[in-house]
Amino acid sequence: MYESLFNRQKQFYQSESTRSIRFRISALKQLKRSIQYYEAALLDAMKKDFNKGEAEAYLTEIGYAYNDINFTIKHLKEWAETEKVKTPVTHIGSTSRIYKEPYGVTLIIAPWNYPFNLTVAPLIGAISAGNTAILKPSEHTPAVSRVISDIISFAFPEKYITAVEGGIETNQSLLTLPFNYIFYTGSSHVGKIVMENAAQHLTPVTLELGGKSPAIVTRNADVKLAAKRIVWGKFINAGQTCVAPDFVYADASIKEELVRHMKYYACKFYEEDVRNGKYMRIVNQKHFERIRDLIHGDVVHGGHTDPSTLTIEPTIIDNADFGHDAMQEEIFGPVLPVLSFASLDKAILDVRDLPDPLALYIFSDKKSEADSVIKAVPFGGGAVNDTIFHLANPHLPFGGRGNSGMGKYHGKYSFDTFTHEKSILHQTTCFDFPFRYPNAKLFGKMLKY
Ligand code: NAD
Repeated sequence: MYESLFNRQKQFYQSESTRSIRFRISALKQLKRSIQYYEAALLDAMKKDFNKGEAEAYLTEIGYAYNDINFTIKHLKEWAETEKVKTPVTHIGSTSRIYKEPYGVTLIIAPWNYPFNLTVAPLIGAISAGNTAILKPSEHTPAVSRVISDIISFAFPEKYITAVEGGIETNQSLLTLPFNYIFYTGSSHVGKIVMENAAQHLTPVTLELGGKSPAIVTRNADVKLAAKRIVWGKFINAGQTCVAPDFVYADASIKEELVRHMKYYACKFYEEDVRNGKYMRIVNQKHFERIRDLIHGDVVHGGHTDPSTLTIEPTIIDNADFGHDAMQEEIFGPVLPVLSFASLDKAILDVRDLPDPLALYIFSDKKSEADSVIKAVPFGGGAVNDTIFHLANPHLPFGGRGNSGMGKYHGKYSFDTFTHEKSILHQTTCFDFPFRYPNAKLFGKMLKY
């Protein structure tokens, strides 16, 4: 179905039009202008799709894209330069270089939770590396997907970059094509389907998936500040954030104090929005029901749900354990279970037993404690004494491992992800060592060949 579109992009890519740095920078500028042109429509669409307020939309989606574009434009020339590397003495006379080559025609499949940012951020990488791209935004945020299509068609010809709207069948159809690179963000379940399809053409993939990201709070933490930063990271975007702290695992000796502060900040940050109908809603009925069913047990804050608006109040469940329903899968909503541990060593073993999460947060003012958790537990990335903020540093690679994905992006890592590093040895023709050839006399006439 999308074969002819794919072939047109392939042809355009092979024309080498996308290769020059000038072309790529001008494409990034064009993308930025188009986003600016559609900014009001984009904000409207986010409001419509899940009641996302302007400030939050700007902070987490639009402003983020502008920064990313500016950062990429600033560094692109340096990233794309052919790199001269060392050559061992055994190769005397030759030089070695790494050429930065685009993959070709790429596919970017995005989820609904940050529907704009998670479509555009990988696209910036694809453009910067000189690829063409077919984007597939999420069908669960139709208003935003429409505006993304408008932004893209306003900025680019279809043969270079285009957005295709549609649901699962559209993905299935796209995934049959021999793309040169696939960048997928979404659930681990669909990640496996994407990888299976990619394997048919041996297409390399980046999989940005999810998982249950713990926030571990030790007895040496600044408990009040930990509560504040956990509550912010958890309930922003109504908990529909891939790196949101999924559950809190706190030292039993400070757990009560922590929960008290968390309740305070949940009220302070979100109570008014909930009361005024400004708190973000859950994306659809299915997810609303799934999250609602997790709310039981020792609910010490929130717990109210409204099916007519698909809103779930920020909710804290105290005294949860690993058997609680909310601990069986990634919550991906504004429900926060709190568990307690008697020793940090035991906590490390428990967390290490879970599938590798996308993020982990450790709250402690003792460096040795933070270091021991960072070293002992496998996870994508994270923060000490904070939540979420690590992903906004373009100098840090962002991505998961195991169940939470493979590959990385952001900043230069986005460029690298969409770039093939082509290794070339430039050999001299001034002389030729005979001893590499069969039947050579060891000290033969080196210069006479
Ligand atoms: P999803 O995997 O359900 O959907 C993502 C895309 O896959 C959609 O476009 C959808 O059409 C498509 N899809 C669904 N079923 C398919 C099938 N059978 N075959 C082919 N394509 C199919 O994910 P979602 O619900 O949109 O997003 C939620 C998940 O994404 C969470 O697990 C979250 O943690 C993760 N996530 C990860 C990141 C990250 O950067 N690592 C960011 C955001 C979300």
